[in-house]
Amino acid sequence: MAEIIEQLIELQAKDNDLDAVTARIAAIPDEINTIKEQTNVLNAELKEKEEDYKKQAVAQQDLENDIRKLNEEIKKSQSELYSVKTNDLYTTILEGIKDKKNKVSDAETSLLELMDRVDGAKKSFTALKEDVARQTDDMNSRCLALNAETDALSAEFGTKKVARDESASNMRSDGTIAKVLEQYERIRKSKGGVAVVRVKDGNSCGGCNIALTRQQIIEVASSDIVVCENCGRMLCA
Ligand SMILES: [Zn+2]
Repeated sequence: MAEIIEQLIELQAKDNDLDAVTARIAAIPDEINTIKEQTNVLNAELKEKEEDYKKQAVAQQDLENDIRKLNEEIKKSQSELYSVKTNDLYTTILEGIKDKKNKVSDAETSLLELMDRVDGAKKSFTALKEDVARQTDDMNSRCLALNAETDALSAEFGTKKVARDESASNMRSDGTIAKVLEQYERIRKSKGGVAVVRVKDGNSCGGCNIALTRQQIIEVASSDIVVCENCGRMLCA
């Protein structure tokens, strides 16, 4: 019986190894999705910065156009002054010119502020664009690495599964061991992958820590298959 238990312990190590590989393979798509979500967030942020920059640049162009128009109007009014016949009209045109010059002056002050903002928005957009490009490259490499890891793990799983199934099949060829193996598989399924545990400190179950009876300790020592009455796992010395 001691040999059977040792075989089960070995099989359990193989099963746990396979479970770990399966869990890692299952976790990878989430990691890839997280990376993709981060990429989307970055690109959305970049788009926002680009739109802000473009909006400010359009506002600058509009203001420059306004100033150009005002200056053209001023020029036109100034040339009109030469052909004016009455004093009243002369004064009216002169006041119009003065008013427009004030507007140009105000607009030029606003334009300077706006140019600063456009410059800031452009710098901010350009810096983020470079940063996003770098991060996107990095994220793409990480996704590629994760995909490669999945491929490697799948291959590893295949090889290990063949070895595991071979061991189990060898064990099954013996009628007694086959029954214990069935028991092992049942317990393993219901106990989170741990069907066989060693006795801890010579007196308690290595699975649930409950103290074993003297009788159980003797049975385990004599290599009988003993099942913990508390957690239902198989015990071995
Ligand atoms: Zn137990």
